[in-house]
Amino acid sequence: MPKTHPLAFNPDAVSVHLHWLTLRYGIHVRLQIANLRSRYGDQKGDRIRLSRYLSNDAQAIDTLRHEYAHAVAEFKHHSKAGHGRLWRRLAAEMGARPRSCGQGPLLAVPLLEPACTACGHTHAPVARRSRRARCRACRSPRLEWRAVITTRFA
Ligand SMILES: [Zn+2]
Ligand SMILES: [Zn+2]
Repeated sequence: MPKTHPLAFNPDAVSVHLHWLTLRYGIHVRLQIANLRSRYGDQKGDRIRLSRYLSNDAQAIDTLRHEYAHAVAEFKHHSKAGHGRLWRRLAAEMGARPRSCGQGPLLAVPLLEPACTACGHTHAPVARRSRRARCRACRSPRLEWRAVITTRFA
């Protein structure tokens, strides 16, 4: 899918929701729509990114809540403990699914999962094929790149 494809979700609905979360929790973040193909979104410091390939409003708002819960855990509770108990409590309070994986695929962006034809080892999916890649298990360069759909958050 070209980068210029229109968004399948309404960014204004996401902004309105972020405004409401900010009023409630008092943590200010910068929201960006990013070219993330291998995950729904991520959070680093006060920046939250949402994938431009999210496929509907519900998925986008769930991702915003997910990432905002990480920001609240970090800035209000000084916790960067990932998807632990504190994060799950905050996520549930915000109405996010308290899971580390998203629901449903991103829009038509299959990733490539390298599988080793020598030993059968499969590797984590990646956005781009790499010519010099070798099997992590047996170092063989004989990899087969299968298209898969991801449901990962960060
Ligand atoms: Zn191998
Ligand atoms: Zn997360």
